[in-house]
Amino acid sequence: MTAATQCEARDLTPELLARYSGPCPRYTSYPTADRFGPIGGLHPWDALRDVKTLSLYVHIPFCHSLCYFCACNKVITNQYGLASSYLDVLLEEARWYKDKVADAPVIQLHLGGGTPTFLNDTDLRRMVEGLSGIFNLTPGKDVEYSIEADPRTLRIETLDTLRELGFNRLSKGIQDFNPQVQKAINRLCGADQVAALTSAARDKGFNSISYDLIYGLPHQTVASLERTIERVIELAPDRIALYHYAHLPHRFKAQRLIDTDATPSAADKIDMQLAAVAALEAAGFESLGMDHFARPDDELCRAAREGALKRNFQGYTVMPADALVGLGASAISYTSDGFWQNQHKVKEYVAAVKETGSAAFRGWTLDADDRLRQHIVMELMCRMALDKAEISAMVRAPFDAYFAPELARLAPMVADGLVQDDAASLRITPRGRWFARNVASAFDAHLHAGENQTRYSRVL
Ligand code: SF4
Repeated sequence: MTAATQCEARDLTPELLARYSGPCPRYTSYPTADRFGPIGGLHPWDALRDVKTLSLYVHIPFCHSLCYFCACNKVITNQYGLASSYLDVLLEEARWYKDKVADAPVIQLHLGGGTPTFLNDTDLRRMVEGLSGIFNLTPGKDVEYSIEADPRTLRIETLDTLRELGFNRLSKGIQDFNPQVQKAINRLCGADQVAALTSAARDKGFNSISYDLIYGLPHQTVASLERTIERVIELAPDRIALYHYAHLPHRFKAQRLIDTDATPSAADKIDMQLAAVAALEAAGFESLGMDHFARPDDELCRAAREGALKRNFQGYTVMPADALVGLGASAISYTSDGFWQNQHKVKEYVAAVKETGSAAFRGWTLDADDRLRQHIVMELMCRMALDKAEISAMVRAPFDAYFAPELARLAPMVADGLVQDDAASLRITPRGRWFARNVASAFDAHLHAGENQTRYSRVL
């Protein structure tokens, strides 16, 4: 079957993509972070005392130069001292958790940014050793230590340091290989450089390599994106994240440096998405939700087939921990009681940690309805199905009656063949996998709270 016909077989058409391409949460958490309120008297971290497994996320916000498309929380600087003193504060924040967290094994450590490899090897070592003194960090093949790397600045010798520290997964921001596109986003990086790093990482024992790609960038065309994907396929990463570029210069200052006239139209972006999916699937990658792809023998694909896939702030995972501690500016943490997030700006983060040991400024306590919907959203995003009997038992009411407004919201998706609704289950069809988050959003009580209010106002 050719690439084009695979897409056609699922009827993934421009019309369908356009119909469901509006803003929709990615559901790396439920409720989504934009719902969090002032931390006030919340103490969701109290539940850390009872966890059996833990994930750690560390945010390193520094970058050497500005990529014009970027919407991340970062600081552009070439003053290394800033990163080094930030690390002192981050370790101070970690110490705040020392008497709050059980001695649970850390099964995932993820370094994100910014550019985590902005830290030199000495500080990378200092960070992991410092964290080891506080949390139960034991590297090994059964734990995931991952790092986001910038292929323009990652040193081959740093790969050795990372492996010594236990890192076994590497993700690289590629975005696009076309020189004109790279120039327009101020991110020049040759495919040969990426190839050399990929092969060095494999030789040194990284067992999972992931690439990030973006479509919708200035000067990108379907043909240029296809050439990038061709080259990516030759380099054979294990996983690929394919993101859509949203040009929002009024919200993100960096994007004002992008020539709006050079950005592709909405219709062109849909064609790019279709072409990218077709090319990746033809090369043997399987899609996981809307924007992630992996090789069929990758554990994510195996878990998806076995209904064991889970989701956290880093996206899909096979290893969900009971809780996540996020360290650094803007980092989010969670336990079974709720969420808390650190101050976004480095200056405010540093000041808060120095003053109280913690930079948590907003959060959320989960109530019974949140827990129910968190379960539903994760089932839909990961298992692509809901067992109505199971959920009915949880709410002590027939599913169809209890969730009548949600089913009404899903009716157009049922009509479009994205969802199959029968007496026993609600199932996302192969055609609907691309729209899993649209389906999940029908159950998001916070997203639809305004609608309810409007309805209640009318009745009153
Ligand atoms: S895309 Fe990555 S490297 Fe570029 S500015 Fe943003 S965080 Fe930094």
